[in-house]
Amino acid sequence: MEYQGVLRKMMTELGSPVQYYLQLENDFLNVNQLLNKTLDISFVKYECLNCHLDKPIFRQGFCKSCFFEIPQAADWIMRPELSTAHLGKEDRDLEYEKKAQLQPHIVYLANSSNVKVGVTRKSQIPTRWIDQGAHEAIEIVEVPNRYLAGITEIALKEYVSDKTNWRKMLTNDITDVDLLKEKEKLAVYIPEEAKPYYLENHSKETNIEFPVLQYPTKVKSLNLSKTPNFSGVLKGIKGQYVIFEDNTVFNIRSSEGYYIRLNLG
Ligand SMILES: [Zn+2]
Repeated sequence: MEYQGVLRKMMTELGSPVQYYLQLENDFLNVNQLLNKTLDISFVKYECLNCHLDKPIFRQGFCKSCFFEIPQAADWIMRPELSTAHLGKEDRDLEYEKKAQLQPHIVYLANSSNVKVGVTRKSQIPTRWIDQGAHEAIEIVEVPNRYLAGITEIALKEYVSDKTNWRKMLTNDITDVDLLKEKEKLAVYIPEEAKPYYLENHSKETNIEFPVLQYPTKVKSLNLSKTPNFSGVLKGIKGQYVIFEDNTVFNIRSSEGYYIRLNLG
């Protein structure tokens, strides 16, 4: 079977285990069903997710000129504390920014390799946690806009990491942590403006199980712009990575905008 299309991050569904889906040009694949199959991946061209031109991908699936112009790639995406829509202040496109920023956001703790703090729109729970490969996560505050979530994250970063070690996450070098305890320890550091939004009675940890048959012992990362053809037996999916039998891992999310051909052996 041959498939083709531009890569976008896999869609997910919380289940035991998580179900992963890949939308290609004319097909919708359940990636879990490809486990133990040989996947043959070839890079065909670039296709910017915004202008659709065959231009090298810069970041987040966009070519360089789109990345620096469109509201979907503005600085407040990666740095929520820079959000200004709550002040009626435009960055690149106020209408877009109002829709994206003035909605419920969650500051959470997630454990994928270590406990880290993060921010996401409420509608992205548990998607965000699955995308990070977190095996457990808990919500800390639910605030009405992105700015408040951003300043809360900044304050908590003083006491807990905001980064994931993706190698540890992929080799399953992980420990179970009592996230409720961690959350309660951090509560005192929540900034005054966000304190009323602390989720006191929302104390359940979410546990996530990933479809992995065999974890790699050490990982080597596949980059399609350097290695345009790759073939391997799929052994697992965790976060936005697919894991192959030979310890190769492929980050679908960081390959957004790459147009590929996929053959199943
Ligand atoms: Zn573009």
